Amino acid sequence: MSKTRKAKSKKKVLCHHCTGLCCRYFALPIDTPKGWADYDDIRWYLSHQGTEIFVEDGDWYLNVLNPCRYLAGDHTCVNYELRPKICRTYQTDDCEYTGDDYGYELHFTSDRQMEDYMKVKFGPKVFEKYNKTKQKKCARRKAG
Ligand code: SF4
Ligand code: SF4
Repeated sequence: MSKTRKAKSKKKVLCHHCTGLCCRYFALPIDTPKGWADYDDIRWYLSHQGTEIFVEDGDWYLNVLNPCRYLAGDHTCVNYELRPKICRTYQTDDCEYTGDDYGYELHFTSDRQMEDYMKVKFGPKVFEKYNKTKQKKCARRKAG
């Protein structure tokens, strides 16, 4: 059997044992946050269900934990013939099923985690001051 055929059959067998882990999310790179406002935007991303933020090799990513609409109940792809290129070229080497732990430098799974991180990074008083300023503005708007 050729190497290619071996690799193909290996992929087939592995994927048959997997629940389609690589079809259950997508991750997009985001700008590296610099100041308070950037971190606060990320806190907003994390306020949404099914989102995570991770940092790998210094790069920041938004992870959307949402399964593909074509992933069937038996973990197969019902759009196999027309699946996008990114699915066709994805390999089992170091995939979610076979790979090691990612060893993220940072990993946030909720806005509360980000809030705690921001409190450490910017200091708790800066956070309070920011919220007080917002509250004053809201009160002024309501009064006006
Ligand atoms: S490529 Fe990996 S994660 Fe994706 S279905 Fe196959 S074994 Fe599972
Ligand atoms: S199109 Fe198919 S292979 Fe691609 S993510 Fe969706 S279910 Fe997975």
